[in-house]
Amino acid sequence: MEYIELYRGDITKIKVDAIVNAANTSLLGGGGVDGAIHNAAGPQLREECSGHGGCPTGQARITNGYRLPAKYVIHAVGPVWKGGKFKESVMLQSCYRSALDLAEGKHAKSIAFPAISTGVFGYPAEEAAGIAVKTVRDWLKYPPTINRIVFVVYNDAAENVYRKLLT
Ligand code: ADP
Repeated sequence: MEYIELYRGDITKIKVDAIVNAANTSLLGGGGVDGAIHNAAGPQLREECSGHGGCPTGQARITNGYRLPAKYVIHAVGPVWKGGKFKESVMLQSCYRSALDLAEGKHAKSIAFPAISTGVFGYPAEEAAGIAVKTVRDWLKYPPTINRIVFVVYNDAAENVYRKLLT
């Protein structure tokens, strides 16, 4: 029953039913993984995103994947790290759960996550990875349609952190 894998590289290249974007509350793009996803998906993605009128922290919204190999993009808004006393961990958990629920709602079988909030948003990588892995494992206790979850890491530090947690 090991549903979970680790992938080192660019999330826009992965062929899964849904990739998750580390979005901001405007859903209108930024740099990092969001910039890469918008570049790869093409301008229609931004158009669909603007129709959502934003998304609160801790929640997620789903769109089509357009030119991406993935059928859907789930735009999850993680918290900005403010030292740890501002419900950051609850918000991070909640955006992973929301993303999984949305994917499940579309009967997706596979989903890939970047390390949400650990770039520009400044969440400490090790703590964020711990929350990501635990939230996904807990969620998998209820028999879902999803049977493949990929954690995408983009550098050595993140790879080491996830590898430790997953083995
Ligand atoms: P946030 O604003 O939520 O912190 P970022 O995009 O700045 O989002 O960073 C989130 C994580 O995504 C970081 O760990 C960063 O290294 C990683 N990342 C950046 N580009 C990509 C990409 N193309 N594929 C996968 N992960 C990426």
